[in-house]
Amino acid sequence: MSVAQRFDVIVVGVGAMGSAVCRHLAKRGQRVLGLERFDIPHAMGSSHGVTRIIRMAYFEDPSYVPLLARSYQLWRDLEAEAGERLLVITGGIDAAPEDHLVFQGSLASCRLHDLDHEVLTGAEVGERFPGYRLPENHMAVLQPDGGYLLSERCLVAHVAAAQSDGAEIHAREQVLGWDAGDSGVVVRTTRSEYRADRLVITAGPWSGGLVEAIRDLAVPERQVLAWFQPIRPELFTRDRFPIFNVEVTEGHFYGFPVETIPGFKVGLYHHLLEEVDPDHMAREPNPADEAPLREFTKRYFPDAAGPTMTLKTCLFTNSPDEHFIIDHHPDSDRIVLAAGFSGHGFKFSSVVGEILADLSIDGETSHDIGLLRLDRFG
Ligand SMILES: Cc1cc2nc3c(=O)[nH]c(=O)nc-3n(C[C@H](O)[C@H](O)[C@H](O)COP(=O)(O)OP(=O)(O)OC[C@H]3O[C@@H](n4cnc5c(N)ncnc54)[C@H](O)[C@@H]3O)c2cc1C
Repeated sequence: MSVAQRFDVIVVGVGAMGSAVCRHLAKRGQRVLGLERFDIPHAMGSSHGVTRIIRMAYFEDPSYVPLLARSYQLWRDLEAEAGERLLVITGGIDAAPEDHLVFQGSLASCRLHDLDHEVLTGAEVGERFPGYRLPENHMAVLQPDGGYLLSERCLVAHVAAAQSDGAEIHAREQVLGWDAGDSGVVVRTTRSEYRADRLVITAGPWSGGLVEAIRDLAVPERQVLAWFQPIRPELFTRDRFPIFNVEVTEGHFYGFPVETIPGFKVGLYHHLLEEVDPDHMAREPNPADEAPLREFTKRYFPDAAGPTMTLKTCLFTNSPDEHFIIDHHPDSDRIVLAAGFSGHGFKFSSVVGEILADLSIDGETSHDIGLLRLDRFG
């Protein structure tokens, strides 16, 4: 084991949130070490699979909308710095039976925050965007700011920005344990031991294994994504096909136009309801994984239901109420935690990086994170 080295802040896990906090800490002059157990980027956690939806209309809770506004701004800043397109605007559809949260919540957030939007029936969505074949009496919010982020590219851009401000980032170095005391924190890894004033833990699906206080509050769940070759590709391009969240009798699905992989991309929230240990889960998708995604596509996006192009497993980390957990560790202000992103965190990772840097450096943040505090679970 090499001699201990000292940093201002050590970040455990350089995924979506970890890469962003490394960037914000380094930008503020902190001496940062980011430790990642796999590669940068990699396909073992929660952030791979080319794209992630971003949208302002937020059916989950309207109090996310100000965080989203800041998130969009930070993504545009990162794009400018990286000299690369990271955020693609397509418009977004939130469609469901009229009384369902996906429609009502989306509409409420648009009204409360004065967001541009149109209300359409399922039939009208199909007239406007012929790739869609939703139930005619579904109700939909069309919000023009919806779109997608190129997720692995975002993560790499955050890492590169952090490095250019002096952050040290190590991949293939697993954190085995940590201790916090009066004089700082000690982090033991597969390669070395490091000391720092403060620690930020952004370990995604592995968070519960590293932090006893959130073991039962950040539960990994296996997910599967599918890409199907469109039969009519001209209907599923980024300029003719908005990203969507759609609630139907078969479940809550989300999807994207063709990007990078030659396929319409679709996922089912909480796929087959499989809570898993991320170190011992079935990584290879199987026919039972594909079936609900193909059936949904055949029924509601029939012109997209061509041959399978790609299937991938991925992981959600669910909190009990599916809102994020962003806070100090209950036993030590030196430690900041960000976990439980419950399948909707990526779009926020730029602003979460800023918030975590605030909490780590200043002990507080001016962003409203009342909904996300750990003590809500008692
Ligand atoms: C299929 C799927 C679809 C999704 N769709 C969307 C979407 O459309 N829009 C959206 O906003 N969100 C979406 N999400 C959610 C979003 O992707 C996640 O909320 C987000 O990626 C979580 O980021 P994270 O940093 O917490 O986890 P990760 O990106 O997985 O990062 C955690 C990192 O910690 C590392 N790590 C863990 N333990 C250790 C250790 N001991 N030592 C060192 N490193 C360690 C891991 O290797 C990993 O790199 C989706 C998620 C999935 C799975």
